[in-house]
Amino acid sequence: MKDLLDKAKALQGEMSAWRGAFHAKPELTGQEAGTHRMIRGILAEMGVPFLIAGECITVAQIEGESPGKCVAIRADTDALPVIEATGAAYASQRPGVMHACGHDVHMAIGLGAAHLLWGMRQSFSGRARVIFQPAEEGGHGAQRVAESGLVDETDHFFALHVWPQLQTGYFRLSSGPVCAATDRLIISVAGRGGHGAYPELSHSALLAAAETAVALKNLVPDMPEERPMHVMSMGELCAGSYWNVIPGEARLEGSLRTLDPTLRRELLAKIGDIAHETAMKHGCEAGLKVDAVCGIVYNDEELVAQVKPAIEEALGTHAEGIQERAFIGDDFSDYRALGTCCYAHLGVKHPGQEEVFSLHHPGFNPDDAAMPTGLAGLCASVFQLLKFSRKDN
Ligand SMILES: [Zn+2]
Repeated sequence: MKDLLDKAKALQGEMSAWRGAFHAKPELTGQEAGTHRMIRGILAEMGVPFLIAGECITVAQIEGESPGKCVAIRADTDALPVIEATGAAYASQRPGVMHACGHDVHMAIGLGAAHLLWGMRQSFSGRARVIFQPAEEGGHGAQRVAESGLVDETDHFFALHVWPQLQTGYFRLSSGPVCAATDRLIISVAGRGGHGAYPELSHSALLAAAETAVALKNLVPDMPEERPMHVMSMGELCAGSYWNVIPGEARLEGSLRTLDPTLRRELLAKIGDIAHETAMKHGCEAGLKVDAVCGIVYNDEELVAQVKPAIEEALGTHAEGIQERAFIGDDFSDYRALGTCCYAHLGVKHPGQEEVFSLHHPGFNPDDAAMPTGLAGLCASVFQLLKFSRKDN
């Protein structure tokens, strides 16, 4: 396990080239056919067997020496509608589309993992998979992968996400909830429209929706340390069509992010009540629709305890430290219905970098040099579980 990082470092050049190629040709959620053609071409060239479902699901499948458990690594493949501003030599050649969430890095590491695991298949039992999953950005891609049947009988799932605030070379994995359940909230308000001169004859849906937005704000303390388990923000308020017309309809949308299922249920009930009561005050009616985008990403305690020593052996002190709990969502949570899961953070902050751009920022450009760390961390986990694995023990 100790030489895993050296083996991963030997793949730096290839991974950087793959990453650059993915980055230059990004594809939006659910439209990732070209990306998967590229992945399939590289896997075929390496001689790694893979399974496919449609144009956008690709799963590398590597059999070990003898039967045993099945462990999978997930890499997501979609980009975002963002106008790139990194100035990188490999910047997006598709205006308005960008790998602004680092999924290009995830794919390059995924291919590196397929290469490494294929080369070492005689030194483990069981089966290793690398899942190239489309449509992570709100497109329910994990669900589509699960429905494809290609990942049936997988015992454990692993993934990592590049982490802008963490220094290159660091790999963090802790047990418990690490990514929030994300709910899209859609509040529709219906009142009675009318002339701006006679507000007393109208029930303004605009006022009801605006007051609802302010009232909901009070469910969330301003300081992050006072809200360790939830956050909520509104992103859209649509009402009205002209300055002298009181609107009879309005729509307010936002997201609720929670790290605890009981708290989630309580908050959703409160949000519904607030919307209803505030609308009533204005003589309007409100309805709340909740779109459950993804669940809590939960790192299984036992699984973390099992793989952590192997990761630390491969990466040394760089694998120590507590993983940050994040309010971003990831549909990696869906794999929990099939097996136990671990989701790590990979530091990608360039040494000496002063300004940190967040995920989804037009200037976000993760450090390529972080890839061997991510690769070694994931492969150490897989080897640890498949080393002597038998399905029956
Ligand atoms: Zn992402």
